[in-house]
Amino acid sequence: MSEYFQIDDPSFEDFVDIQRPPEQLCTGLSWTEGPVWFQETGTLLFSDIPNCRMMQWSAEDGTSEYLCPSEFTNGHYRDLDGHLVSCEHGGRRVIRRYDDGRVEVIADSYNGVRLNSPNDLIVKSDGSIWFTDPPYGINSDVEGYKGEREYGGCYVFRAAPGSGELSVVANDFDKPNGLAFSPGEDVLYIADSGAIEGGTNPAFDDDAPHHIRAFDVVDGCSLANGRVFVDLAPGVPDGFRVDTEGFVWTSAADGVHCYSAAGDLYGKILLPEVVSNLTFGGLDGTTMFITATSSVYAVATTRKDATSRRSYPARSYGQAMRGAGEF
Ligand code: MG
Repeated sequence: MSEYFQIDDPSFEDFVDIQRPPEQLCTGLSWTEGPVWFQETGTLLFSDIPNCRMMQWSAEDGTSEYLCPSEFTNGHYRDLDGHLVSCEHGGRRVIRRYDDGRVEVIADSYNGVRLNSPNDLIVKSDGSIWFTDPPYGINSDVEGYKGEREYGGCYVFRAAPGSGELSVVANDFDKPNGLAFSPGEDVLYIADSGAIEGGTNPAFDDDAPHHIRAFDVVDGCSLANGRVFVDLAPGVPDGFRVDTEGFVWTSAADGVHCYSAAGDLYGKILLPEVVSNLTFGGLDGTTMFITATSSVYAVATTRKDATSRRSYPARSYGQAMRGAGEF
């Protein structure tokens, strides 16, 4: 047993470098989220939501502000062309940001009314964009602008490649949050963080969802056979990632939990702050960057993201082109 790692299955010792404690890359922020890695510049971009800004970090230059105001961006991802796609609480929309700063709206309404506050998103190998739409950005002025749920629910949407046409892939969540596909994209995992109301309400409702559900992906564009994959404690699952072997690495109140595709807990990365999200990156894609409340941490692993075989055209987001330093 290590101070920094909890080993529940012996093979977890091969997944992380248990001799190397998590490294705090920066701190003093408010609520970090949405980490996304740019290999070509060795840069991590992420959100600092209540401060309405995006930050950048590199081994060489440390941490600095990237964009402010950011319209309360939350989750980020890269599309198949390497462009940055982002969930915006403030704009209540999902956008694509081009290298020259131009912004294209991918989705901002459903059935003629505004979305709630898109939270997190992923890009499937066919270019479709899947995102969740809980109310965390409209239930107070802390992480966005207080407003109404105009279509009444909190859905999970798919924006079709090209047309961007929205379809509802799940409508029975309390507060859908992080999401990720299995390596073969035959299973979609979606977090429900309904136990946390968010905004100015610190209450935790243990009777409300704090789990990740799994769905079978049908014809690449819809979902079936929803079932609870893991009931998470302590805290709620927010953002998470799946590695090339199908292990699910999820945020939790005490760090990052690693579950097999069968739902067995293999181990934990223990952190002193509540974790919101994570991504794989670094020189060879095995560094896990973890956004956790006021900080960002890096953990050396032997794993890579399930999408790590994707290669993107170089984009000029973040810092000027440079090596990724020690990572
Ligand atoms: Mg989230």
